[in-house]
Amino acid sequence: MKKYDVVIVGAGCAGSTIARILAEKKKKVLIIDKRNHIAGNAYDYFDQDGIIIHQYGPHIFHTNYLEVFNFVKKYSPFFKYEHRVLGNLDNQLVPVPFNFKSLELTHNKKDANTIKKLLLKYFKNKTRVSIFDLLNHHDPMIKKFGKFVFDKVFAYYTAKQWNIKIKDIDKSVINRVPVVLSYQDTYFGDKYQFMPSRGYTNMFKNMLNHKNITLQLNTNITNHIEFKNKKIFIDHEEFKGKFIYTGAIDELFSYQFGVLPYRSLDIKLIKIKKTHYQKAATVNYLTSEKFTRISEYKYFLKQNIKNKTVIAKEYSKAYNLKGKTDPYYPINNEKNNKMYLKYKKLADSYHIYLSGRLAEYKYYNMDMAILNALELTKKIK
Ligand code: FAD
Ligand code: UDP
Repeated sequence: MKKYDVVIVGAGCAGSTIARILAEKKKKVLIIDKRNHIAGNAYDYFDQDGIIIHQYGPHIFHTNYLEVFNFVKKYSPFFKYEHRVLGNLDNQLVPVPFNFKSLELTHNKKDANTIKKLLLKYFKNKTRVSIFDLLNHHDPMIKKFGKFVFDKVFAYYTAKQWNIKIKDIDKSVINRVPVVLSYQDTYFGDKYQFMPSRGYTNMFKNMLNHKNITLQLNTNITNHIEFKNKKIFIDHEEFKGKFIYTGAIDELFSYQFGVLPYRSLDIKLIKIKKTHYQKAATVNYLTSEKFTRISEYKYFLKQNIKNKTVIAKEYSKAYNLKGKTDPYYPINNEKNNKMYLKYKKLADSYHIYLSGRLAEYKYYNMDMAILNALELTKKIK
C-alpha cells in the first residue's frame, strides 16, 4: 500500500473521475471495485447480437453543467441523443413528462383548450412546473387537472417504485418529473443531452487508462480494511495516504448504526425477434402492470439491427442484506438522513473522503456524481 498516494473504493462515475484527476496531478492511485467490472451502475456491454445492454437499468446522459460534459467528452465520442418516454395510461400512450399533447389525448378538445390557456396565463414565464404547483393552485380547474395528472401519472407508478404511500415520498423525488407547459416531449430538460457512442464502460475504461492508475477488480474493501485508534489499516498496514470511498457508507462501518434503507431493482432482459418492440426508448406503465417501465436498449445508441431487439423490464424490489440485492435508490427522509449523518461523522473522524450516490446517500444522476467528484478533487490537498 505504501506505493500509493491515494486509494479509491469504487470504479463508477465518482471513483473513476477522482482517479483520473488525481492521476493527472501525478498521484499514484489504486482504485478497487468489488464487482468484476468498472463503470459502477452505468456498466454496459454489447451482447452476442451487438445490442447494447445496460446491466443495471437504463442510463441516459444529460446535464446542465458544461464542466461535466467537457470532462466526459475527453474519454469518448458523444452523439446527440434526446430521450423520449411514453406513458401507458389506461392503455393509451401519452408523452411523459405530461405535456400539452398528453393533455389533448386525455381530455376533450374544449377542456384541453381551457386548461392550456389557464396554464399559460398562470405560469407565464415557466415552461415546466411541479405537479405540486398544480395541486396547490387556487384555480379549481387547475387543481382538478393537477389531481388528474397526480392520480394517473404519479400515484400508481410511485407506489410500485417505492412501495410506500405517495404522501410519504420526499417531494424532490416526484419533482424530478415535471409537467411541461408546451408540446416539448423530451424526458429531460437539460442543456446537454448526449450519449457516449461506444457505451459507458468504454468511456470509463479510457478514463482509467493512465500510467498512475492501478485498477483492481473483485476486491471488497471490507475484507481488507480495519479501523483502529483513528487510523486506517489496509491489509494490516497503516495507510497514510488519501482514502476515498464511493460505496455504501454503512457497509464500510459494519452497519454499526443500522442498515441505511434503499430500494433495489430486478431487471428482466428479454430478447425479441422483431426490429422494434415499442414506439419509444422507454415506456412507463402508469396505471397497470407490476413492473414500472420497459426500455428498449437499441434506441439508446440508435442501433440499426434488424429482426432482433432486447427489452428490459424493471421491477422495484426491497433491498436487504440477506437478499443479495444491490442498493440502487437511497430513501431520503429525516430518519434515514439522520442515520447517514452518524456514519458521515464517523468517516470524517478518519479523514475519509466520501463521494457519489451511495457514499453521500443522495439521489444523484451521473452528472451530479461526476460534478461533485470534480469538486472534491479541488478540496483534496
Ligand atoms: P456507483 O455507480 O454505484 O459506483 C460505486 C461503485 O463502488 C460500484 O461499482 C460498487 O461495486 C463499488 N463498491 C461499493 N462498495 C464497495 C466495496 N465495499 N468494496 C469495493 N467496491 C465497492 N443517472 C443518469 O444520469 N441518467 C440515468 O438515466 C440514470 N438511470 C439510472 C437508472 C437506474 C436503474 C439507477 C439505479 C441509477 C440511474 N442513474 C442514472 C444514476 C447513476 O447510476 C448514478 O448517478 C451513478 O452511477 C453514480 O455513480 P457512483 O460512482 O456514485 O456510484
Ligand atoms: N414518476 C412517476 N411517474 C413517471 C415517472 C416518474 O410517478 O412516469 C415518479 C416516481 O416516483 C419516480 C420519480 O418520479 O420514482 C423519479 O422518476 P425518474 O424517472 O427520475 O426515476 P429514475 O429514472 O431515477 O428511476
